[in-house]
Amino acid sequence: MDSEVLYNVLRQEIKERKIPLSLGKTCPVKCAFCYEKDHSYRPTIDAPMTTQEHWEFILREIQKAPTRENEAWLLGGNEYMEWTDLFLHPKAMDWLEEFLDTTDKKVMFFTVGYARPDRINRLALKYPGRIDFELSVITLGDARKKLMPHGPSVQQVLQILDGPSVTSANFYSLGPDTMSADAKIISRVNPRCVLWMGCLTPLKYIDEPTSELMRTGRRYLAQEAEKILEAAPPNMLQLHTESYITAWLNRKKILKTFDACELEKQDWVVVSGNVYRILNMFRRNRARYLYVPNAALGGDSDCTTLLTFEDVAKRLNGQSMVYLPKVIMEHPSGVERDIAGVTFEEFKTWFPRKRFRVLHRVNTTLSNTKLYEKGYVKNYIEDYVRNPLTKKYEQVALPT
Ligand code: SF4
Repeated sequence: MDSEVLYNVLRQEIKERKIPLSLGKTCPVKCAFCYEKDHSYRPTIDAPMTTQEHWEFILREIQKAPTRENEAWLLGGNEYMEWTDLFLHPKAMDWLEEFLDTTDKKVMFFTVGYARPDRINRLALKYPGRIDFELSVITLGDARKKLMPHGPSVQQVLQILDGPSVTSANFYSLGPDTMSADAKIISRVNPRCVLWMGCLTPLKYIDEPTSELMRTGRRYLAQEAEKILEAAPPNMLQLHTESYITAWLNRKKILKTFDACELEKQDWVVVSGNVYRILNMFRRNRARYLYVPNAALGGDSDCTTLLTFEDVAKRLNGQSMVYLPKVIMEHPSGVERDIAGVTFEEFKTWFPRKRFRVLHRVNTTLSNTKLYEKGYVKNYIEDYVRNPLTKKYEQVALPT
């Protein structure tokens, strides 16, 4: 690979607050649910395995960047490089330690459990408050073999959990006695970490049996969540992965934001499925809602942030002016572009006769911060599962 290309990509990832290490190959863990199975929707380079020389460059560049109070650097480049479990890199732990030693910055990382428990626990004690360790447990139950045939053993995962390092453990409903059984075990081993739960979402390239397992998990989510609430473990209990729940729990915020946009009845506004349902129930005919499915990701995905300009283009039909949520073009690079790399400017050239306006209030702060505030299991049970209105919400048909 041309080293100029590589170094430019490293610089770009660093600019977006990533620590761009690479395994130099596709992730060998090959999880059946991996969202990187097909990342062809975004342009990436085949980065070689990170060498000591690359690392010295990366660290020097990071050291030059200012430290911001609430900013954590993500281990792994994931915009222009392929996402992998970087603790499989033989030097990852040494470099992580060097990052913590030689900068005053925070770090955030996700792993299915390859971090060495003794070393990561020691680092967590040495650098309190600087490590956000999100452990992707996924499941400790029978489905583990199928979903993660090459993943770390349950015993290894429990060893990592048994210490001060893990900030949050994520795991999912995959049927009866899955998420609730895992919550019990994890909480017993680690009563401090956040339990971050929900369902895995089938995307178009996830195989049928895996997608079916994910959908079974969704059918049992309420039952599983009720059990966990009843067991009342001491951990913080969060539920975030289901957009239909997030949209419902935050309906007041969504409506307030929509009202503040002061749209006219005849205006067309791009919305994802669950926002369409909310607006259809509570703001019927206050504007014209252009439902745009997440065609690029496909499957059951339903998320405004992950809409692409191509998704929007497929649904345009005769409208002369359309409002677009800011969040679909709010890329960390600062350039207005979607997750597939298409810029807003480029998109506008596809439709020279149409006009587009941006809804600036529908932005990343709203989707990443505000909409997370209510994502607790307790809220899900009380305001979703036990709320008779949600039946009506679920039945709102999406336009074809
Ligand atoms: S470990 Fe992570 S990146 Fe690797 S296959 Fe599994 S989910 Fe994908």
